[in-house]
Amino acid sequence: MAIIPFDRLEGSIWLNGALVPWGDAKVHVLTHGLHYGSSVFEGERVYGGRIFKMAEHGERLVNSCRIMGMTCPYSAQELNRAAEETVRANGITSGYLRRVVWRGSEMMGVAAQANRINVAMASWIWPSYFAPEALEKGLKLTIADWRRPAPDCAPTQAKASGLYMICTLSKHAAENAGYNDALMLDYRGRVAEATGANIFFVRDGALHTPTPDCFLDGITRRTVMELAARRGIEVIERVILPDELEGFEQCFLTGSASEVSPVSEIGPYRFDVGALTKQLRSDYMAEAQGSVTVAVAVAG
Ligand code: PMP
Repeated sequence: MAIIPFDRLEGSIWLNGALVPWGDAKVHVLTHGLHYGSSVFEGERVYGGRIFKMAEHGERLVNSCRIMGMTCPYSAQELNRAAEETVRANGITSGYLRRVVWRGSEMMGVAAQANRINVAMASWIWPSYFAPEALEKGLKLTIADWRRPAPDCAPTQAKASGLYMICTLSKHAAENAGYNDALMLDYRGRVAEATGANIFFVRDGALHTPTPDCFLDGITRRTVMELAARRGIEVIERVILPDELEGFEQCFLTGSASEVSPVSEIGPYRFDVGALTKQLRSDYMAEAQGSVTVAVAVAG
């Protein structure tokens, strides 16, 4: 199957206040965001024509701008209206929305105080982040060589493009070695997250997930914690060390793109694609599709 590159898709892109034809949404090569990583973004999913958790993503985008010292020219409400306009204009009922904010090309150097803050949004049809077979059997993860940086070494609470350098390097290394993704430890050697998703473990019917003090406290992560609480499942947010992986029964990733994805393997450790993981995946899909009714408790 021939792959159509993203710049060749058809539709409309919202660029600095107006929808423009897809192919016209261009930036110059001398753009600060490209050279110095001064860019923040959001990845969201559209279910039944609705942007799931749009308000939370809009708020995080504005907050990422603030952390990066970029004054966003639009309020969260304006960004959300534009997001809906973009999805509608492209006729997306089930797909993805990308919002991105970056420093423009007025100044080309480390300092870029006068640069325009640009905003763009695009939406497209996008089925699954991981292949369906991989989701069925569980993802295979290796452990990355790169570590999540300390909060005083990078703006770790912003969804900033620059933070993804080490994610791309780690994911490429994992794929090249035959894995689906990589688990990243943090600067202290603690379990942190995957290259584009948070991580949860199951043991004795309870969920365990690392405290997000140097990586994103994902919107999907928080949704899953809420869904688990609704079922009376205990959620323990804590420091998790790599040698504890041995004792966990199940494992899954959470992210707007990856949704709830079971993991069967991390380095030498093995996990079951178990009932609790499957239940939370189905609760999440129902919540995202807007039809959840949860009353019964399940066993892990
Ligand atoms: N960590 C990283 C590095 C990510 O890229 C993502 C995806 N945005 C997440 C965690 C999960 O965040 P969310 O659930 O808000 O999409």
